[in-house]
Amino acid sequence: MSRALIIGAGGVAGVVIHKCCQNSEVFSDICIASRTKAKCDKFKSELEGKTKTRISTAQVDADNVPALVKLIDEYKPDIVINVALPYQDLHIMDACLECRVDYLDTANYEPQDTAKFEYSWQWAYRERFEKAGITAILGCGFDPGVTGVFCAYAQKHYFDEIHYIDILDCNGGDHGYPFATNFNPEINIREVSAKGSYIENGRWVETEPMEIKREYDFDEVGKKDMYLLHHEELESLALNINGIKRIRFFMTFGQSYLTHLKCLENVGMTSIEPIMFEGREIVPLQFLKAVLPDPASLGPRTVGKTNIGCICQGVKDGKAVNYYVYNVCDHQQCYKEVGSQAVSYTTGVPAMIGAMMALTGKWKKEGVYNVEEFDPDPFMDALNRWGLPWKESFNPVLVD
Ligand code: NDP
Repeated sequence: MSRALIIGAGGVAGVVIHKCCQNSEVFSDICIASRTKAKCDKFKSELEGKTKTRISTAQVDADNVPALVKLIDEYKPDIVINVALPYQDLHIMDACLECRVDYLDTANYEPQDTAKFEYSWQWAYRERFEKAGITAILGCGFDPGVTGVFCAYAQKHYFDEIHYIDILDCNGGDHGYPFATNFNPEINIREVSAKGSYIENGRWVETEPMEIKREYDFDEVGKKDMYLLHHEELESLALNINGIKRIRFFMTFGQSYLTHLKCLENVGMTSIEPIMFEGREIVPLQFLKAVLPDPASLGPRTVGKTNIGCICQGVKDGKAVNYYVYNVCDHQQCYKEVGSQAVSYTTGVPAMIGAMMALTGKWKKEGVYNVEEFDPDPFMDALNRWGLPWKESFNPVLVD
């Protein structure tokens, strides 16, 4: 019997809300609070009467710390689930500190005016969260999130040391649009148009955007081109997993997506530098977001599957071990269950599970933690139970 405050009412939030409502034994009460209250009310009216979870809604600007503190003081949640945007992370953490309530998010903090994400800003809260006696769980979506739990599970059960990790994120889905993003377009385009990077022998190696390309034959999806990207979990996993020599992240992209992205970049539409337009300042990327399809609307039209997982290579008792653990998720099945496509689903389900881990005391430590710093076993069990079953293989095809 717990109370959760869910901040944000977009694609990922929709899944978190549905999943909390399926899990009323843990989430007896939820409050959905976001910038646009009408979106919160819509979720409430869709779900009320179909769940035992009591649902309330509120309007809040999550960049306004006093307003957040007032809402938390009034609602008195046991946890705040932040599924707004990465720009809000620090403000919501500040409010959680002031009210002494646990915190969870799915993406690490990113300043709005610099396309750069790293954990330093949130890790700087460790001591304050410890002193306040509360828990912050960072990056609890799929990647980051389940990918970190997969690595912790591999480390706990199959390895003494993991030397190489390749995280492979494949979206074999087709939404039928020439160009659309599967989660918030602004965050997505900032991520994929940045330089790539990976960690080798304790140091970051930087690449040009999309410079490193490989082909991989994904279970239940087939052959896809994938590209090396910078990704946030590389930073924490390199510290938290024993013996890492190299860790990389690859994501699949279709040719149409890449051609559109290049063209938009070439004409300046992906820039985050403000420009003057008809007497007012606009940010080209924010304008682009406004004309692109809303990711939350892709559910009914997306077909195909995602396949996301980790290939780990290392040693156990002196013997070489190769291990691949992954989940396959079907866009249309997600849509039938919760009205969303698989990218929102694979993010929202782990966020609900992470919150459940904190609320049931399984993941409860004072301070600020990445998911791989907790016991992976109860989370792995919950993935199977709550819609993201995983498969494992001990002779995977490796990425060169
Ligand atoms: P959306 O754009 O669909 O939703 C964001 C929501 O946050 C919207 O409802 C928006 O309000 C609300 N919001 C934005 N700013 C504020 C604010 N200042 N105060 C209150 N509410 C605000 O994004 P997604 O659902 O696609 O993504 C949500 C998060 O999930 C992002 O941080 C994203 O990076 C992360 N993510 C993580 C993944 C992972 O695997 N770890 C994968 C995919 C996404 P409004 O409706 O008014 O616009």
